[in-house]
Amino acid sequence: MKRRKVIQISTTILFIILVALGKVQLWMAIFGIGLLLSTYFGRFYCGYICPINTGMELIDSNADKNKRKRKSVPEIYKKVWIRYGILVLFLGTMIMVFKTGKKLPVLPLLFGLGIIITIFYRPEFWHKYLCPYGTLLSIFSKFGKRSYKVDNEDCIKCGKCVRTCPSDAILWEDKKDYPIIIQNECLLCGRCQEVCPTDAIK
Ligand code: SF4
Ligand code: SF4
Repeated sequence: MKRRKVIQISTTILFIILVALGKVQLWMAIFGIGLLLSTYFGRFYCGYICPINTGMELIDSNADKNKRKRKSVPEIYKKVWIRYGILVLFLGTMIMVFKTGKKLPVLPLLFGLGIIITIFYRPEFWHKYLCPYGTLLSIFSKFGKRSYKVDNEDCIKCGKCVRTCPSDAILWEDKKDYPIIIQNECLLCGRCQEVCPTDAIK
């Protein structure tokens, strides 16, 4: 089994245990560490640790093979203020939770929402436009040093990586150009590398 899958399964089991014990707020410490490390390692929290993404990948894994139709991202949600508005709302809620000491299951609620979104929409709707954790990580990851890159020497511009990416992190506006991976939107899931016919993604 691939190392990423082992880590994903382990962290999801830990998440389920914390939920069962009513201690899910402890997960925020794990997220905090992921946020700090993202300044060097990029969004590895999303690709390796996040239980929401693990659940989403499970649902989405055979979508293409089974020809399951998923809706594209609605245009209105591509407006940048919506993404940051959701983040501000999320941070406000978290501050309120900490100040009042109320136990609001923010993470389990977002987990459920992420899963529902994946049933009907392509996964980038969540990863790039809705998830407040993802938005925070994409801000911190702007300084990241680790990332996948397309090697233009080997790339044949087939576009398979672009169609596979669950985070819409590969820019390919002009088909005559080589695709470019947007480092701070990349979840480090490695799916582009798996589908590339010429091993052009390093
Ligand atoms: S498919 Fe490639 S570019 Fe897209 S998120 Fe995964 S590793 Fe990053
Ligand atoms: S899948 Fe590989 S060869 Fe095809 S466009 Fe992407 S990097 Fe280039």
